[in-house]
Amino acid sequence: MEVFNLYKVLLDYYGFQNWWPVYGNQDKVAEISIGAILTQNTSWNNVEKSIKNLIKENCLSFECIDKIDIEKLKNLIKPSGFYNQKSRTLKDLAKLFLSKKDIGREDLLSIKGIGQETAESILLYALDKPYFVVDNYTKRLFYRLGFTAENISYSDLQKFITGRLPVDLEIYKEFHALIVKHCKEFCQKKPKCENCFLSHKCIFKKVV
Ligand code: SF4
Repeated sequence: MEVFNLYKVLLDYYGFQNWWPVYGNQDKVAEISIGAILTQNTSWNNVEKSIKNLIKENCLSFECIDKIDIEKLKNLIKPSGFYNQKSRTLKDLAKLFLSKKDIGREDLLSIKGIGQETAESILLYALDKPYFVVDNYTKRLFYRLGFTAENISYSDLQKFITGRLPVDLEIYKEFHALIVKHCKEFCQKKPKCENCFLSHKCIFKKVV
């Protein structure tokens, strides 16, 4: 199977995922960027609770995050965990967005608490820049389907995938979301191969 075919098969099965989910609908760049920090090491349900707290407080903006008392911010984002570190990262992120117009990858990576996956999620989903987001789900699925080695680095995996896709923001956004969806539905750590619609094309299926 080709990489682009995998995208089409996943899209046919699951349909458009329309990431990134937005609830506040006022400042999408701020909401998506804040969500990308909050979602680190926690489930989306917990992120939703924090986002809703921020909306209630009218604080889903870089201006408010910059000004709000840090203890109050910690309290609002408590549901998504690691609130001491995340509140500091959010404040640094707000300062960056308020002080600079064209935010790049290096700007984001210079902030403590922002790694490659978070930076590229912000670049792709908030800033509409063509970065393909790779994570552990991507690594797992591409290894199991026989595309790549188990220990491939994130940057090599990213090159492997982007070298086989058209440079297209919508495809980048959807494909990443579909990979996450498939890994949550079927290709979990302990995969549910017996019901998986990719099993006839999957190398890993034969060894589980
Ligand atoms: S067949 Fe199993 S290992 Fe292969 S993609 Fe499906 S769930 Fe994952």
